[in-house]
Amino acid sequence: MNRLWLAAAASVVALGAAVAAPVYPPFGLDLTARDTAVKPGDDFFQYANGAYLARTGIPSDRPSASRRLEMTDRMEAQLHILMEDAAKAPVGNDNRYKVGTFYSAFMDEAQAERLGAAPLRPELDAIRGAPDRAALAGLMGQAESGLYPALFGIGLDTDLKHPDRYAAYIGQSGLGLPDRDYYLKPELAAKRDAYRAYAAKLLGLAGWPDPARAADAVIAFETRVAEASWSKVQQRDLNALYNPMSPADLRTMAPGFDWAPMLAAAGVSGKAQVVAAEKSAFPKLASIYAETPVDTLKAWMAFRTADAAAPYLSKAFVAAHFDFHGRVMTGQSEMRPRWKRAIIAVGGGDCGADPQSCFGTIAWAVGDLYAQRYFPPETKAKVTILVGNLKAAFRGRIEKLDWMGPATKQEALKKLDTYTIKVGYPDTPQRDYAGVTIRRDDLLGNVRRAAAADWAFLVRRSDGPVDRAEWSMTPQTNDAYNGSLRDIVFPAGILQAPIFDAAADPAINYGAIGGVIGHEMTHGFDDQGRTIDASGALRDWWTPADAAAFKARADRLGAQYATYEPVPGFHINPGLTMGENIADLGGLSIALDAYHRSLGGKPAPVIGGLTGDQRVLLGWAQAWAGKMQPDAIKAMTVGDPHSFRKFRVNGVVRNIDDWYAAFGAAPGQALYLKPEDRVRIW
Ligand SMILES: [Zn+2]
Repeated sequence: MNRLWLAAAASVVALGAAVAAPVYPPFGLDLTARDTAVKPGDDFFQYANGAYLARTGIPSDRPSASRRLEMTDRMEAQLHILMEDAAKAPVGNDNRYKVGTFYSAFMDEAQAERLGAAPLRPELDAIRGAPDRAALAGLMGQAESGLYPALFGIGLDTDLKHPDRYAAYIGQSGLGLPDRDYYLKPELAAKRDAYRAYAAKLLGLAGWPDPARAADAVIAFETRVAEASWSKVQQRDLNALYNPMSPADLRTMAPGFDWAPMLAAAGVSGKAQVVAAEKSAFPKLASIYAETPVDTLKAWMAFRTADAAAPYLSKAFVAAHFDFHGRVMTGQSEMRPRWKRAIIAVGGGDCGADPQSCFGTIAWAVGDLYAQRYFPPETKAKVTILVGNLKAAFRGRIEKLDWMGPATKQEALKKLDTYTIKVGYPDTPQRDYAGVTIRRDDLLGNVRRAAAADWAFLVRRSDGPVDRAEWSMTPQTNDAYNGSLRDIVFPAGILQAPIFDAAADPAINYGAIGGVIGHEMTHGFDDQGRTIDASGALRDWWTPADAAAFKARADRLGAQYATYEPVPGFHINPGLTMGENIADLGGLSIALDAYHRSLGGKPAPVIGGLTGDQRVLLGWAQAWAGKMQPDAIKAMTVGDPHSFRKFRVNGVVRNIDDWYAAFGAAPGQALYLKPEDRVRIW
């Protein structure tokens, strides 16, 4: 019955009920979410969200609870209707039939149980039967198009120095834990031990001989790989990651690894040039590969292949996978219901932030169906106007920056003008699934065929000119990005309350989606984005004086963030989070500016006793409301470039003068900074 209600509600929106009430009545803020016993100047995040945080528990099947996840819940309910409905589609070769069939195949738990480990057999047989390291390297070449792991990953993306064409990037890979720190830091030893037990468990389920001993060898191997790998902070330096060379140079630089069979299996052996990313790690990884016994490499490949396949196999695999990835790594106590896992298996997760989460899916088919059914064209129009205002505000702020010289400013404005803004869903089809066979009785086969088709598409595409109309996130993604095509993309999934509500007071939309739009725009100009020029090429267009002035400000902001401790013993890493923190500060500053401009010289109305600036700032603060299990916060603090949500609010507002004026934050209050200590970048 919920389904009918949701479907009906969605069609009302789709028909364009312009006078609809906001999701949070009466004007778009959740007034009941606040904790007014707390002074905004002491903890603005708590002031804006305290009552919401107190009344909201973390569901046992999730690592966190938040407004953003409530948006995901709404969307999942819509996708559930859509897929249940597609499961009734008549047999055909169309997207709706394929989505429904893939979904039904995932939902068939009895079939998965009957098959046990059998669907894994083709990969395990190939690994077992490989006569030597070269044959294993050939299997690693199928990592992008199938279930195998690899010591080196391949990505086909825009060439950073020649933005009109594509390049084949080769990068370090091989770790099953989210970051090298997990292998090397004593405070993460418990996670490493759990990972070892998980490896033994999966190898046992897969029928691998002597699984406990094999797991020890696998962890020792990955630990060596971790030691040789670059850190996430090192990986932020795009210039250091751009090392074009011929495949022959690759062999000279990193002998010991069998490059030829790997590149051939990936379908990229015809490339005259590849780009080696973490260059200094390559010879070390190649030596590790050459020195590791073939049996250990085989056990490693068997474990990691089983890990990739586990969510699609029988209960024993699914439970082991959840115990480790869910319970141990993110503190979840219960698995998500099967239909929710089915939605991700067919339609993907956040492909932009984690391309792996769209691996083996037919996510674009789901995206087309989703946008047609649930995304009203007037939302696309309204957001496009908002984005235009934000762009104008950013332009005005760049013109007025006191630390940037005129030559750099000119280049910056030129770059800003080349940005395209994409809203809701792509205007051109992104993938054609006509040639992909989806079978009701072959779940893992569907995953394999979808992954292979996707990789074949990317290989084919890599020989042609760059398509600037392309999207990297599906419409059903609850996220946004600033891409290598100088585009800023807001999929339909993120354009929901409280991030955007067409019926809300505009000030709130400026604070929430406006802040996010501003955030994404500044990424094109931060320590990483500024290495790309107006043509899209990797080129430093900043004068040394501007770079020094920017760095001085960034370092002062970083010093503030280094003092924040989201969970005892784990401080925010200012280097890792630098780009995101600067983007948050710039985004909210630009959003306030854009709101002021939108008033056209008139004073902002007072609504519900709140001034315009108060509503903008509360819009931002409420958009980030949420909490997380301590284990998930730890994982985030170690490996995520975003700061924990509380600091995306408190860490930002205390540097903005308008916030002090709006909420009267005063000396002696915890967030108070003297005017000369406030950092202004954008
Ligand atoms: Zn960002």
